[in-house]
Amino acid sequence: MAGQRADVAQFASTVESSRLTRSNDILVQIDLARVIANAIAIRKQVGVDVLAVVKADAYGLGASQVVSALASVVDGFCVFSLREAMDANGGRPMPKPTLALGPCEPAELWAYKTLNVRPSVWDAGHAETLRDCRPVLAVDTGMQRFACPADQCAAVFEAGQCDEAFTHATTLPRVQLLRDIVGPWCLKLHAAGTSLLNEKSAWLDAVRPGLALYRGAVRVTARLIDCRKTMGQAGYTNFTSPHHGVFLGGYSNGLRAGPCLINGRQSRVIEVGMQSAYVETYADDRAGDEVVLLGDGLSEETLAQAWGVGAHELLVRLCGAGQRKYI
Ligand SMILES: *Cc1c(COP(=O)(O)O)cnc(C)c1O
Repeated sequence: MAGQRADVAQFASTVESSRLTRSNDILVQIDLARVIANAIAIRKQVGVDVLAVVKADAYGLGASQVVSALASVVDGFCVFSLREAMDANGGRPMPKPTLALGPCEPAELWAYKTLNVRPSVWDAGHAETLRDCRPVLAVDTGMQRFACPADQCAAVFEAGQCDEAFTHATTLPRVQLLRDIVGPWCLKLHAAGTSLLNEKSAWLDAVRPGLALYRGAVRVTARLIDCRKTMGQAGYTNFTSPHHGVFLGGYSNGLRAGPCLINGRQSRVIEVGMQSAYVETYADDRAGDEVVLLGDGLSEETLAQAWGVGAHELLVRLCGAGQRKYI
């Protein structure tokens, strides 16, 4: 018993310590007009329904703000869970039909209906239970998680009387596999997220972009609190530099070393500590000057590469680093 309690306490403490915190000294500016413009551009490019993916708090940009901004621009939304749909619109029905991509909740029939959310299904039992919520068949074309293997699709389709099916495709052969598996049933089909937006044959009846909606819409900044001429070796890593500055924000806020901009010049976050970081500066940079960590031409892709993570992870981490402000 005591051992079990200790295990639970230890687990709770690791969960707690791995949780990143929002720094008060980092500003996350979110340009909703850019999100709207991105959505309109995608709509124009593909000419089919755009289902905006707002899962994970819209990748950190804020699901409720993004949902209101896009409500009259897109054809539908995708969340991960019913809970996210509830949070995204203050418990009111979603303003456009919404698909929950993750595991369904068979006991929540009423919640799906009142929130304007359709569940994804890949199990005949769940499909039948949720039939009145117009369940959408999730087809496994290779991800091997959260979706229906090809040989069970017919049973789920029948049980749920589905009129729509999708797969999470990352390649064109997987899009084709979706068509091969469910093609004969004349369903509304979708497969493409951001990575297949430039592939016409992946568009089908709708696209589900996430990242492509948010590119260029987030600007993350901090302020130098200190600027110095570097004397010999400094920091934890004994770095050398003609000059350096410090801002408040560190790995507890999800930050890593990489490129940044100061006073319009390319610079570099040299070293990241728990709640502060060193940056390279020029002799004329001053305390109070802005350090741009994302935006102003410093793209998600460039930073993601420098951080050694994907662009999705980069965006979520940086959006969570500080206080969000909408412009
Ligand atoms: C997250 C997700 C998307 C969106 O992916 P992006 O690469 O951000 O466009 C689309 N479909 C499913 C099933 C997803 O889980």
